[in-house]
Amino acid sequence: MADKYEQVLELAKRRGFLWNSFELYGGTAGFFDYGPLGAMLKRRVENIWRDIFVINEGYYEIEAPTIGIEDIFIASGHVGGFSDPLTECQKCHEDFRADHLVKDIIENPDTLSAEELTDVIGKNNVRCPECGGKLGNVYEFNLMFKTAIGPGGKRTGYLRPETAQGMFVDFPRLVKFYRDHLPFGATQIGKAYRNEISPRQGVIRLREFTQAEAEIFIDPRDKTHPKFKEVADISMNLYSQDGQVSGKTTKMSLGDAVKNGIIAHEFLAYCLAMTHQFLVRVGVSPEKLRFRQHMKDEMAHYAADCWDAEILSDRFGWVEVVGIADRTDFDLKAHAKQSEKELSVYVSYDTPRKVQKFVVKPDMGVLGPMFKGKAGKVANALKALKPDELSGDVIEVTVDGEKINIDKKSVKFETVTEEIHGENIIPHVIEPSFGIDRITYSLLEHSYFEEETKEKVDDEEEENEGKRIVLRLPPEVAPVQAAVLPLLSRDELRKPGNEIVSKLRKAGILVAFDDSGTIGRRYRRNDEIGTPYSITVDYQTLEDGTVTIRERDTMKQVRTPIVDIEKKVYDLIYRGKSFDDAGKGI
Ligand code: AMP
Repeated sequence: MADKYEQVLELAKRRGFLWNSFELYGGTAGFFDYGPLGAMLKRRVENIWRDIFVINEGYYEIEAPTIGIEDIFIASGHVGGFSDPLTECQKCHEDFRADHLVKDIIENPDTLSAEELTDVIGKNNVRCPECGGKLGNVYEFNLMFKTAIGPGGKRTGYLRPETAQGMFVDFPRLVKFYRDHLPFGATQIGKAYRNEISPRQGVIRLREFTQAEAEIFIDPRDKTHPKFKEVADISMNLYSQDGQVSGKTTKMSLGDAVKNGIIAHEFLAYCLAMTHQFLVRVGVSPEKLRFRQHMKDEMAHYAADCWDAEILSDRFGWVEVVGIADRTDFDLKAHAKQSEKELSVYVSYDTPRKVQKFVVKPDMGVLGPMFKGKAGKVANALKALKPDELSGDVIEVTVDGEKINIDKKSVKFETVTEEIHGENIIPHVIEPSFGIDRITYSLLEHSYFEEETKEKVDDEEEENEGKRIVLRLPPEVAPVQAAVLPLLSRDELRKPGNEIVSKLRKAGILVAFDDSGTIGRRYRRNDEIGTPYSITVDYQTLEDGTVTIRERDTMKQVRTPIVDIEKKVYDLIYRGKSFDDAGKGI
């Protein structure tokens, strides 16, 4: 029997959600096309993400190039270290992820070096899974697609392996845009490219995929969140470091998780809440969703804390779909070093602060005649000295490489009190990073049901009798939001049907008009693409101006006047109006 992945993909291919890319030419692993319904579904998922992060949180969206120059990826560490260990079969020349081949032999193989992996493969006589051939030495394969900018290959470029760097590179402009006010955030939804070694997990591991990322720059001295109270009572499945040791997921409120030191701080916990809210809103089942904390040896050395949102899939088990990390000041410091620019924010104090400052006051009356043209430089060198360098009777400074001794009497120093109004700080970065393709696939899987039904379809094929496939997508995510179905394919019914179609379209609702085949079959066709509402026009419509609306999930039908039909359907889709109210004239 086909597993859930095969069932979902069969439907997805047949009905125009997902197609293997380049199918005409035989296809290539790691690439998928979104067909007409898939592209619309994905767009709706992205727009809900925008609604949460851009509109509700105010983290504006930017759009940077998908090709980056080399400096960016030297700074980010991708040139040096964004690689997976590769081994090639010496016989059939298939490539494999070496760490995947030894995962049943050794714990945490992703922490091993290429040499260590070669060793494990040799000692355990691990062979090619395809042909049993001998495997070659393991080496690190950089996952970035390299390209050349301009003719002649003079300048190296890379297809970006994540969207995040766009926000870091634009940091100086963003600081000005947000008028030096922390916290602020910027987001990007766009393509990322990774030349995965041998993607064998269908839509889960792609070589070109869509990320939605937010880089939120916060004051490192204050990691509370002003709206944390609003989410503190939300409970979610947390698979913490300790939980992983004992193999236990705990359902816990975010307030308790922060209080007990499980999640590092409020800001990160707030991001977990937003992520939970987003995933459930687009149609991920809450019971198939958990947040797994990175173990200490798995977490990047600079990270303060890191959690992955994982979704349970029938075939693939728990799949990481979102990474949420406190990356501290790592990225800004790295780009500051590479670009030789200061990347900081000036933060003003609420009230000015008094600080004690040690000042050196060279006596220019003495130094001027003594050093003439060099006197200014000598004075500056003296001013840069620290108190302990001024303790002897003779003070030594270096000017233009020359050591100069100066009598203590020519220099006065004192401690003064100064008022300061603020300081430059390097913000810390909280980064939620979403893989939109994995999420889109997951919600198809979670909303896919094959069920028994008593609803009759007149000319049903025998094997389908009494069965229906239904995608229980949330109405705001469904690609086609309403179907208008004249009971019979006759002009007198088609006409009012078309009028309803144009009313709905004007209200921004994507509607399909379908008048071919029996009504039962048309309901089924719409059920399996997740159309939440079907509007049927019949002869009673001509008499009293009413239609029936059928709800996909319950298959319940109500009669309602055509007047304001677009408003009624809109309220059902976007305002969470209950279908039970539909009969009362919604
Ligand atoms: P990362 O930067 O590796 O933490 O990735 C962030 C998110 O991008 C992950 O949680 C995934 O959802 C997604 N992602 C990463 N690699 C791939 C891939 N090869 N194919 C599809 N999605 C991916």
